[in-house]
Parts: sequence; C-alpha cells; structure tokens
Amino acid sequence: MTSITLWRPLLGALAAAALLVPQSAAAQGPAPDAPAQAQAATPDRPSYDVRLRSDADGTTWTGRQTVSFRNSARTPLRFVDVRLWGNGHPDDGCGTPGKPSPVRVSKVAGGTPHPLTVRCSALRIDLKKPLPYGARANVSFDVAITVPDRVHRFGRDGAHRYVGNVLPLLSVQDAKGRHLDPDVGFGESYFTLAGDFRVALDHPDSLKVPATGTTTRRAGAPGRTVSTNVARGVRDFVWAAGPFRTRTVTSPGGIKVHGYWTATTSAEGVALAMKDGVGSIDEFGKRFGRYPYGEIDLVMSDGITFGGMEFPGLVMLATAPDMSAVVHEVAHQWWYGIVGNDQFADPWLDEGFASYAAHTYEGGDTSEFCAEGPWWWDDTSAMTRSMGFYADGRRSEYVGVAYSGASCALQDLESTLGSQQTAAMLKKYARDHWLGVSTTADFKRAAQAATTKDLTPFWEKYRIH
Ligand SMILES: [Zn+2]
Repeated sequence: MTSITLWRPLLGALAAAALLVPQSAAAQGPAPDAPAQAQAATPDRPSYDVRLRSDADGTTWTGRQTVSFRNSARTPLRFVDVRLWGNGHPDDGCGTPGKPSPVRVSKVAGGTPHPLTVRCSALRIDLKKPLPYGARANVSFDVAITVPDRVHRFGRDGAHRYVGNVLPLLSVQDAKGRHLDPDVGFGESYFTLAGDFRVALDHPDSLKVPATGTTTRRAGAPGRTVSTNVARGVRDFVWAAGPFRTRTVTSPGGIKVHGYWTATTSAEGVALAMKDGVGSIDEFGKRFGRYPYGEIDLVMSDGITFGGMEFPGLVMLATAPDMSAVVHEVAHQWWYGIVGNDQFADPWLDEGFASYAAHTYEGGDTSEFCAEGPWWWDDTSAMTRSMGFYADGRRSEYVGVAYSGASCALQDLESTLGSQQTAAMLKKYARDHWLGVSTTADFKRAAQAATTKDLTPFWEKYRIH
C-alpha cells in the first residue's frame, strides 16, 4: 500500500522483456523425491466458489462460500485456518456485546469450527478426517459482511463501499508452522497462496461493482444484476460497489485498464492515473513478465485518505489532480501478487520492490535521499524486520526502511551488479517464483548468482539478513 506521505518519495530500477512460465515449485508442491526437511506450504491450490447478495447500497453482503484445497505436505492435514482479515482492524471490538464483528461466518460444513482467535480474524476448522498428501477436500460456510463506517480499504467513502481484505481466505501452514499473525493496523499482515476464485455478486443495477478477475454480468431479480468474477492464480479477491463513473482503455500491450472513479474525483487526476496505469502495466510486463490477468481495475477517489492499496487485478487510489500512487500499486501486481511473499514476515519484499519498480518507471533523482541513509532507528533495526517489529511503535521506521530504504538498497544493488545484469536477474527471479512464494533467502541467492562479486558486504550494509 501507500500512505499519502509516501507518494513523492516512492523509489525504485531495472529493464528487459520476456514471457514467463506459470507455476513455481512452491505452487506445484514438492517433487516426489524432494528432501523431507522443508514442509511444503499447505493447503495449496485453493479454489473459491462464492455467492453473495448485497443490500441496496452495498453495505451488507450475505451468502455462502466454498473453498476446496489440496494437501501438499507429506503429513496428513488435520485442520485448516481461515483468516477473517475484515475483523482484524484494531479499532473493532471482537466479541464486544452489541458490536458484532464486520465479518461473520456460520453454518460450517466439511469440518468442525473452533472459536475465533487472533482478534476474531482466525477460524480453525478441523477436517472431518485427516487429508492425505496430494488429496483435496473442501469446507463451506455462510458469510455475512457489514462494511464498517470508516474510510478504509474495508470501509466507506460517501456512497461507495470498499470490500478489501474481507473475503475469508485459507491461511498457510509450512515449515514455520501456522501463520496466525495479527493485523497490526497498518501495512499488510497477509500471507496466502495463489488460487482460483469464482465470485458471483448479486447487487442493485444502480451499483457499479469493480472486482478482481474477469467479469460477466447478467440480469438478476427485477432491478438487480449478478456480476460473476473469475480469477485464476491470485492471492485475494476484492471488490467495491457504488455509483462510480467508468472508462476502459486497452494498453498497447493488450491489457484492459478499467477506470472507476467517484463524481468528486478530479478529471485531471483520473486521466493521469489512467495514463500511468496503462504505461506502467505494459512496462512492468516487459521487465518482470507479462501481466497474466488480462485486465486491471483502477478504483479512484479523492476521498481515499489511506492513500492506495493493492489487490490482485484491482487497486484503490487516492487521486488528486496531479498525483496518485498508481505506478506503485500496479508494481505490487508483481511484487506481492505474482511473486508472493509473507507480507507480515518480509514487508520489504513487497513494499521495497514495488517502490523500486515505481522509481524505475517514474525516474527522479533519489541519490541525495538514498545517501542520507541509513534509516535505522537503532541496533535492532534491519531491512528484514517483520510487521510485528514495526508494530511496536515503529510505524515511521517501517515507512523509511521497507519502502524508501529498500528501494535505495535495490538501486545500489543495480549499481553493484550493473543494470543489464540486474534486469536479467529480476526477470529470472520473478519467473522462478511466478505465482509462488519468495523469501529474503531466495532473493539473496538470486542476486549472488548474478555476479562474481561477493555480496556479503552489501547485505551487511543494508542489514538484509
Ligand atoms: Zn505499497
């Protein structure tokens, strides 16, 4: 994401072009003779089938969700954790009488639910029977969503509703165990494996409903439309609803860029965001591998006080006449979306790489800023700190290190390796982790493999551990 204060200093660099091959080793699970030491991330290959119906203005959504999944670990899978991130906001009461959580799940089938934990954001479901390696199962439940009355990616903006980080998602179990991190109230704490979604949204005709994926619309009950959205190889599903104005531009590279904006958003800002959205999605496709989803929605408003937020195939943008964070958020389609990472453990891998990519597109002289580093607060600071570290009163350090500092580090790496070598390295790195999950260790290996220089001093300088 970006905060308002981040727009100008967003940094970033590299270049090249190629077609990439889907499916990383992580997404495919272990090879038959893979060593047993590292447990594959499981459950994987999730497939979500969701039907939700809204009220008159998109504030409430109710329906049923089924998710099927595979056990990619050698050990039987006994339970799944479903994350209800819409309940994770620190301002929301969890279990407070008279103040229900914004996302409620009930009538669970396919397993036995436990009480909610992690501030009502984690639901463990014990499977009916242990799921063997390679087998698939599914769980189903009713979902009821109430969009909170605040300006937020899960919130309201005048007559518009944003439903981001809300659809219940399967959590990951891997060599680190269960991932039950909390939402710390800023940045992203999310970690999911890429999967497929089919989400039917039944809403009044009067509402435009941009969403992740390719949308087909048909008439529903009188006065209503059913928008069915299909997305493959994505980590999340988001939508918005409201009386948006719309326009679609097809990029020279063949990507449909759908603009949605509120009536009070400046026409100049919309035009600028559309232009940079079209330009950057093609440019990043050349650099990191072609954008695989065919279309992207830019949801723009002058009322998005949280700046911007990335989701697969849809970004939310605070849009002013002369700026938006569109390039940074489009870069996230690759860095977090296509090349996944544990956003709680390694925020620099998504925010830093998106900032660096945006810098390469937008240009600008960052040498003075970068020379002012380090951005560390103290000896415990490091590029590779988690959201848990920053949650302890270090939010502004998170911004300085994980965004700008990481972009400076990647620019410095580019100087060290050479621009062409860096471009080739990043393209290969993206291909190797396409729709999979990458770690800091993976990136360090990729960078070191691209040069005969010993990068140890570089990693130490930037505290990339
Ligand atoms: Zn970001």
